[in-house]
Amino acid sequence: MHLGLHNKVAIVTGGSKGIGLGIVSLLLAEGANVVNVSRSPADALPATATPDRYLFVQGDLSSTETCSIAVQQTVAQFHGIDILVNNAGVNDGVGLAAGPVAFQQSLQRNLLHYYAMAHYSMDFLKRSRGSIINIGSKVCETGQGGTSGYAASKGAINALTREWAVELAPAGVRVNAVLPAETWTPLYERCLAEMPDPAAARAAIERLIPLGRRFTTIEELAAMAVFLASPVSSHTTGQIIFVDGGYTHLDRKCTVDTVAEFGAAAT
Ligand code: NAP
Repeated sequence: MHLGLHNKVAIVTGGSKGIGLGIVSLLLAEGANVVNVSRSPADALPATATPDRYLFVQGDLSSTETCSIAVQQTVAQFHGIDILVNNAGVNDGVGLAAGPVAFQQSLQRNLLHYYAMAHYSMDFLKRSRGSIINIGSKVCETGQGGTSGYAASKGAINALTREWAVELAPAGVRVNAVLPAETWTPLYERCLAEMPDPAAARAAIERLIPLGRRFTTIEELAAMAVFLASPVSSHTTGQIIFVDGGYTHLDRKCTVDTVAEFGAAAT
């Protein structure tokens, strides 16, 4: 399938690691020009990330100024925007006990820059009849406990996906969300590294993932995001798509080794 991304201009937030870096790499491989807005430079970029096709804008997205500057620099170098991928975020464990200031800071880390990036990019996306991809999380549907700021942000991101899809449909701009559950990234590795037995913790999570009993790969996540960003998905908008090996929605009987483990009442 030819995705039609050659010479398109894409902004990816948090494109230096994990899912964001996977999306940056795939967009470059498909011929797009890519702007990565992130705190630190990318871990390892493909050879296609040449200065004429790749721009790194360094900054903390918690600051609205970073978002505005990123859009300005994108347009200065590439003369427009076709794709915005809002991806940067962190499950920062701001629970009920943390208090209102910490909660607001979590929204700044996880939600407010999604809006700011869309706001500053909007006119350029309308001109190109482009597309927005929001990376969310299954936490907004399942809860997790101890992470109010992140859960609220991800819930709002789903709501904004539908809201922006409606607002921007007359201009031909599509808006979709991709939701990971358990994707193996540096963020995830860091979380498990804090546990007493990281390998056992990883195995316990893998047992809960129906399809293949394994983590989703960065490449699998990126493939869905890039497909939705491309003109090939030209009549898809307002969709919230889980790329999670069935983790969030499938019958929990899938997560035990045999149905017999559930006993006779398991049907
Ligand atoms: P990751 O491995 O930590 O990579 C995130 C990247 O974004 C890093 O380069 C990070 O910068 C950058 N970043 C984060 N906050 C930033 C900020 N405020 N300003 C600038 N840059 C920022 O994370 P990931 O696992 O790929 O997660 C990406 C997205 O997927 C997030 O929205 C996350 O909520 C979502 N998600 C992931 C999973 C999963 O299983 N991995 C599950 C559900 C949802 P540094 O390099 O400075 O840290």
